[in-house]
Amino acid sequence: MKDYLIVGLGLSGSAMAFRLEKMGKSFLVFDDESQEASKVAGGFMNPVILKRFTLAWKADEQLEKACSFYSDAEDLLKKPLLAPLEIYRRFSSVEEQNNWFAAADKPRLAPFLDTNLVSEVNPNIPGEFSFGRLRKTARFDPKGFLESYADHLEENGRLKRETFNYQNLKITEAGIEYHGLAFKNVIFCEGFGLRNNPYFNYLPLRGNKGEYIFIKAPGLNLEVGVKSSIFIFPAGDDLYAVGATYSNTDKSPNPTEGAREELVTKLKDLINIDFEVVDQVAGLRPSTIDRRPLAGQHPIHKNLYCFNGLGSRGILLSPTISEGLLDNIEKGIDLDPEVDIARFTPKWFPKA
Ligand SMILES: Cc1cc2nc3c(=O)[nH]c(=O)nc-3n(C[C@H](O)[C@H](O)[C@H](O)COP(=O)(O)OP(=O)(O)OC[C@H]3O[C@@H](n4cnc5c(N)ncnc54)[C@H](O)[C@@H]3O)c2cc1C
Repeated sequence: MKDYLIVGLGLSGSAMAFRLEKMGKSFLVFDDESQEASKVAGGFMNPVILKRFTLAWKADEQLEKACSFYSDAEDLLKKPLLAPLEIYRRFSSVEEQNNWFAAADKPRLAPFLDTNLVSEVNPNIPGEFSFGRLRKTARFDPKGFLESYADHLEENGRLKRETFNYQNLKITEAGIEYHGLAFKNVIFCEGFGLRNNPYFNYLPLRGNKGEYIFIKAPGLNLEVGVKSSIFIFPAGDDLYAVGATYSNTDKSPNPTEGAREELVTKLKDLINIDFEVVDQVAGLRPSTIDRRPLAGQHPIHKNLYCFNGLGSRGILLSPTISEGLLDNIEKGIDLDPEVDIARFTPKWFPKA
């Protein structure tokens, strides 16, 4: 009997597997590449919400844990995954500048916001109201991590690249059975795919589609990330990633013409140099109605767990929440109540 079965190898499933591997637990992962959110993520290790200059939920605490988690992943996979990346916020008014200074006065934001404004970051990016620099920023390579970690798991017989079929899961007295294999626990980490999960689809996963375009812009020579209404950051060889969009209505997995037009229009307002769109990617962020992750035990089947709801912040959240969930399963330590799925009661749950 293996200790765990994990369904999904995005940022949530890989954080789980990585921690289980370090703990010396036995496990098997199923992934069918049906969801793309983790692979297309921008990868910013940034705790500040750059629209409003506020701290994302507990993000300063999560940043430290994420840095050490991903540096352990670099050691295991012998691959650089984290690189420093300077990020600048372009201001669109004096009011925004003032908001930046007001935010920088707050003790938890002060370490991340530089109050020495910069008048130019690149000759092709006009900035009438200057730019604010974020401190302590880095970029993590989610696609590189997920592909290398999947290869590593496969080499060790711990990954099946196939769809997990819920109908074939058998819950027995002793544990869980799936295609003749026995497990003590199952952790479902399917991102937006949770909607197909008959055990956990009562959870209020909303889903928010995000798209990026990749442009070729020879002569831009931009080596930092810049955020205005959209982000632009370098991707090597005169290529730049530009995004992302946010849509609560479109739940289709594919890139759309509408998102491309929106990003091109906003980009023309940001840079004043010719460019060509060479690629486009899309993914569904597993967002929740209360903007908090989803982690914890099924209300009836005690060997089934869920780890989801990472929304637009999977890179910082997954190392912290995976640790909390495993502490809960293995040591009986309470989950953060803001994260625990016990905050949602399914309609079919017997009333006391
Ligand atoms: C355009 C875009 C940009 C983003 N940028 C950032 C960013 O800069 N920073 C950040 O922190 N976050 C970012 N995010 C959010 C981040 O991508 C998500 O928070 C995160 O990827 C969610 O990870 P997950 O593992 O829960 O879900 P997913 O990435 O969706 O992974 C779920 C996995 O489960 C698998 N699966 C599902 N069902 C089954 C099944 N039945 N059988 C087998 N396998 C199954 C899927 O194939 C998939 O591999 C971005 C998202 C998007 C869309």
